[in-house]
Formats: sequence, structure tokens, C-alpha cells
Amino acid sequence: MKIAVLSRGPGLYSTRRLVEAGVARGHEVDVIDTLHCYMDITSNRPAVRYKGEPLPEYDAVIPRIGSSITFYGTSVVRQFEMMGTFAVNESVAISRSRDKLRSMQLLSRKGVGLPRTGFAHSPDNVKDLIKMVGGAPLVVKLLEGTQGIGVVLAETSKAAESIIEAFMGLKANILVQEYIKEAGGADIRCFVVGGKVVAAMKRQAAEGEFRSNLHRGGQATLVKLSAKERATAVNAAKVMGLNVCGVDILQAKDGPVVMEVNSSPGLEGIENATGKDVAGMIFEFIEKNARPNNTRTKGQG
Ligand code: ADP
Ligand code: MG
Repeated sequence: MKIAVLSRGPGLYSTRRLVEAGVARGHEVDVIDTLHCYMDITSNRPAVRYKGEPLPEYDAVIPRIGSSITFYGTSVVRQFEMMGTFAVNESVAISRSRDKLRSMQLLSRKGVGLPRTGFAHSPDNVKDLIKMVGGAPLVVKLLEGTQGIGVVLAETSKAAESIIEAFMGLKANILVQEYIKEAGGADIRCFVVGGKVVAAMKRQAAEGEFRSNLHRGGQATLVKLSAKERATAVNAAKVMGLNVCGVDILQAKDGPVVMEVNSSPGLEGIENATGKDVAGMIFEFIEKNARPNNTRTKGQG
């Protein structure tokens, strides 16, 4: 098949591995810089142009859209969908996953386990907001943060109040969340492809840190999932409408809770921790599912 990886970084581990795994399975794989794509939207024949010419017809695109280019990146993916190209993750699903609050609302609607989470605009009832999620210690998060930046642990109610008021004063959108202390600074990244968890790793935060992000010095190790954890990850991916994603789970005392669902999960950490050919599994999914117009929304919405 002829497959495009939409990525800004041809040298990034995930991009390189996708090219390598695709070629190894006999595909032709191009890396296309998302921000250099431009779109012909006026005619009945939607097209994506690149470097002065229309792009060839691809059987599938693999979007690797960084969080800083969500708006333009999802427009490019939508354009491919309109052309009938199979997108491994649909544009609407990517947009959905980028908004932590929207994701939480959708997951809660379908009964997926979540940490108790609150969201408010006005600082009038901050004390009640804090009480609502179970009081301090609690976690305050910027809605569009990533790699652990913008995630703060407030140890006391007074600290929580000041942090929440400060963020609100800056007009930043935040959510306030119950702190899952029993997770002990660890979370589980479940890598889901085509409705199955194909690899999982435990990430342990560095000493004195509660955020387990590998970018924050977290250490990854292989983990065996419980049936409940596996089912939670699969369900979360389904609710979000993502074929390929990383579902991050915390082990709370009453069972697994979903922290976030990432639509462009990195391959380096998970492949190194598990020794699995996760990139190859993404191509296996494409081989089974890539048919023209085989996306749910076909560029609508
Ligand atoms: P980001 O998108 O920046 O990665 P996350 O919501 O994943 O933001 O939070 C970063 C890290 O902080 C998580 O990987 C986890 O280790 C820790 N964390 C986040 N929320 C909670 C919580 N409610 N309770 C305990 N730890 C949390
Ligand atoms: Mg995270």
C-alpha cells in the first residue's frame, strides 16, 4: 500500500519507526510535513497539495499531530478524509482528545472510571469546588497542557485556593481533580491499536515528583494488566473514537481510572519498555482496515 505519515519531524523516533516498520511490511511510506500541506477546498474534488503539486493518492494516512498544531493538523486530516483516504485516527477524534475537559465529559457519559474532576470559570465558589473533588491534596491541570507541564499538586486547601484563583486570574482554563495518592506517582500507559491493548508499560515518577511523564524523568517498565485495566483502556479508546491511542490509567483504590487519552502516543518509550514492534502493529491494523471512505465521519463534523 501507499501510506503517508503526517509528521513534522522525519527524524523523530516514532516517525522513523513507522517508516521502517511500513517498509519492512512491503509498503511505500512517505513522510509529509503537515504544516507544509495546503488544501484546495473550493472545488468538488478536494485535494491536498505539497511542494507545488497535488499529493499522490494514498491508501491511508497516519496522523502524528503535535498538540501545538492541532487546529491546522486536524484540518489536513479532514481534507484527506473528504478525499476518501483512510485516516488511522479521524480528525474529529483527534480534536476531541485534545480537550481534556471534553474527553472527561465523554468518558463519564459512558461510565468509564475517572478521578473525581471539577471545572469552573468563575472564582466565586472555589471552596465548594475543592470540597466537591474531596478536598486537598488535589491536582490542578491546564486543559491543554502536555508532557506534565501545567499539572500542579496542591497539598493543602489554602494552596489549592491560591493556585486555582491565580490560574483563573490569568484566564487559563483549568480542571481540578482528586489526587490519586495510592497510585504512588505511577501510572500505566496502555497502547491501544484497533480496539486491543497491544502493549502496556508502567511509568514511575522520579524521586520527589508525582508526575510520571517520561519527559519529567519517569522510568518505564513492563507491566501485566488486570482484566479490568485492559477493559477500561479498550472502552476509553472506543468512546474517544480513536483506533490508535495511548490510554493513561491510574490505579485507584476502587479500581482503574482514566487520566487521559493521547491520540499521538510516542513509540519510543513503549517499544523500549516492552520490546514489541508496536509500529508494525499499526500497519497490521491499516492492512486490515484501510479502504476508501472507511472512516466514520468521512470528513464531516
Ligand atoms: P499531561 O497531559 O501533561 O501528561 P496528565 O494529566 O497526564 O497531563 O498528568 C501528568 C502526570 O501527573 C500523570 O502522568 C500522573 O503521573 C500525574 N497525575 C495527573 N493527574 C493525577 C491525579 N489526579 N492523581 C495522581 N497523579 C496524577
Ligand atoms: Mg499525560
